Amino acid sequence: MNPQDYDRTIIMFSGGKDSLACILWAIENNCPKIELWHHLVDGLPVQGQTASTLMDWPITSTYCKAVAQLLSIPIYFSWLDGGFEREMNRSNQAKAKTWFEAPDGLRSAGGNGGKQSTRQKFPQISADLSIRWCSAYLKVDVSAIAIRNQPRFNDSKTLVITGERAEESPSRAKYAEFEPDRTDNRNGKSKRHVDRFRPIHGWKESEVWAIIQRHGIIPHPAYHLGWGRLSCMSCIFGSANQWATIRKIAPAHFERIANYEQQFDTTIQRQRSVREMANLGTPYAEANNSQLVEIALSSEWGDYPIWTHLQAWALPAGAYGESNGPT
Ligand code: SF4
Repeated sequence: MNPQDYDRTIIMFSGGKDSLACILWAIENNCPKIELWHHLVDGLPVQGQTASTLMDWPITSTYCKAVAQLLSIPIYFSWLDGGFEREMNRSNQAKAKTWFEAPDGLRSAGGNGGKQSTRQKFPQISADLSIRWCSAYLKVDVSAIAIRNQPRFNDSKTLVITGERAEESPSRAKYAEFEPDRTDNRNGKSKRHVDRFRPIHGWKESEVWAIIQRHGIIPHPAYHLGWGRLSCMSCIFGSANQWATIRKIAPAHFERIANYEQQFDTTIQRQRSVREMANLGTPYAEANNSQLVEIALSSEWGDYPIWTHLQAWALPAGAYGESNGPT
C-alpha cells in the first residue's frame, strides 16, 4: 500500500493514543491531504436542541480540536442526532438522522422515518455490534453515512485510517491490516474508491507511546488520571476501579448512569450494577489531583499545553495499565 496512490487520507480520531499514533504515522509517511474525523458520542445540539452529556469525557472534543490545530490539520465532527442518550431511550421511535461536518458546511442524512423500535436499555458487552449497539450506531454507521453522502468522494481514491491493534483483543487481532472499506464502490456508478488501512495493527503499546513522545504531544487527560485506554468516560466496558474513580470525580454524572440502570431494570454489565462495581473498586490515585480532574471535566481546552519538549514529555499514569474498552 502506497499512501501516495490516494487523493486524500481520512483518520478516525477518537482522541486516544492509538488514533493519535496513526496521525503521526500519516505525517511521517507523507499521506496526502490528511483530515481528521471525530464522532461525538453524545451528539451536538443543532436547531435549538439541548446537548446530552451522558457518556463522554467533556474534554474529548476540544482536546481533538487542539491536536488538529497544533498539527494544522482540518478536523470534522459527526454524530447521530441526540447521541447515545436519545438512541438508548428510543421508545417506538425510528433511528435519528446523522449530522456531519464537511468542507462546505454542516450536512445531514437519514432520519426520514424508518423502522420504529424500542431500546430502553444500555448496550450490552458483546463482540456482536447488534447487542453492543453504541459502536455500530454512534461510530461505524456515522462514518459510513458521512462518506456515502459526500459527492467529493466519488471518482476518487480515499484512504481511511483507523487505529485498532492486534494486541488489544483476539477479535481485533483478526482484523485485516488493509482491505476495501465498507463504503467502497469503486466498481459502481459513483466510482467511490475507499480503502481501510490500519497502520499500527501490529504495534505494541510501547511503540504507540514512543511515536507520541517523539512528537511531544500531551496525551488526553484520561490517561493522566489512570485510564489505559481512551473510551467514553462511562464506557460500558468500565472496570471496577474506573467506576469507583468516576463516582469520586463526577458523582452527579455517576448517579445519572446508575439511575438509568434502575429505570431500565437492566444493568450495563450483566453480573453487577455500576454501584456494585464502584463498591468493588478503588479510585485511581490521580483522582486526588484536582487540577487534572478539572481539565478532564472541562469542555474547553483553553490555555492548557498540548505539546511539550521531548525532555519534558512524561508517560501518563494510565500507560500500560487497565485497558478496558471496546474489543
Ligand atoms: S467507548 Fe464504550 S460506551 Fe462509548 S461507544 Fe465505544 S463501547 Fe460504547
